[in-house]
Amino acid sequence: MTVLVTGGAGYIGSHTVAELLARGDDTVVIVDSLQTGHKKAVLGGKLYECDLRDTEAMRRVFRENDIDAVVHFAANSLVGESMTDPAKYYDNNVYGTLCLLERMNEAGVKRIVFSSTAATYGDPERVPITEGDRTDPLNTYGETKLAMERMMRWFDVAHGIKYVSLRYFNAAGAHEKGLIGEDHRPETHLVPLVLQVALGQREFIGIYGDDYPTHDGTCIRDYIHVMDLADAHVLAVEKLRSGGESGVFNLGNGRGFTVREVVETARKVTGHDIPARVVPRRAGDPAALVASSERAKAELGWQPKRASLEAIIESAWKWHQANPRGYGDE
Ligand code: UDP
Repeated sequence: MTVLVTGGAGYIGSHTVAELLARGDDTVVIVDSLQTGHKKAVLGGKLYECDLRDTEAMRRVFRENDIDAVVHFAANSLVGESMTDPAKYYDNNVYGTLCLLERMNEAGVKRIVFSSTAATYGDPERVPITEGDRTDPLNTYGETKLAMERMMRWFDVAHGIKYVSLRYFNAAGAHEKGLIGEDHRPETHLVPLVLQVALGQREFIGIYGDDYPTHDGTCIRDYIHVMDLADAHVLAVEKLRSGGESGVFNLGNGRGFTVREVVETARKVTGHDIPARVVPRRAGDPAALVASSERAKAELGWQPKRASLEAIIESAWKWHQANPRGYGDE
């Protein structure tokens, strides 16, 4: 069978492609505009460099391949940028997803696994967060991901396209073999930034506020290994292929760490000082985000295998040491 992975040259997409290739059960087709993805991150499969909004190019992808399931990552995902350029996010994320669903519908493809986010919840009413909790995004990025989820629901009602939406908490880490990892441009995420300080590429890590209502005043997040996320996508494809119903699932370890704890763990893992300075809060950051992933465990049979923060940071460190300039200039 053939899986189409959109955004398969991006961070989580490329790790999922690697996992699909390693399992070897499927032919893997990748669509990526390479606007933010990296060609070198695609370890195999058939890559089409095209945009989801390009109707003819996407029709060709569905015509040339016998696709029975789609794993949809292609999207812009920078929270800050989404606040200054919302049109870009509605256009690429929401309209891009509409185009994809239309092409799927034309081609009779009835299964989609979707890359969603904890940002759909906004400031949570409680932690750990369960899937039935209120969704009230604080930024355009989360808003567009929620709109995409809802769009899928109505395509299911109208056309029977079944979806699994995976709401990730904080993805981090890298593939065990050290061939692929995290390389965002610009980099805004805590773990790679901290490791860039360890590598001497940055002077210090700025901690965004230490007056949150948490035990050390810094924000709490639930860090989840990117390969555990990759596993969940493969399980979600299997669930849909075996006739599973549509659904939304959180993916996290169920354990929160403060920014200071992440920096401290990175110091231990790397053996570097990693100077840190408190800087002003970043707009739109909830104090604590921790997942309840009980539903994913019960219904997808998912179990995170690299749950410790040390293991997550170690794998990221291996990649950053071996690839201090990420994927380079390409
Ligand atoms: N953070 C920080 N300094 C940075 C980048 C991030 O203190 O340079 C904090 C941020 O406020 C959040 C946590 O680290 O509490 C994780 O942020 P990241 O951007 O990695 O992921 P997000 O939680 O936004 O998905």
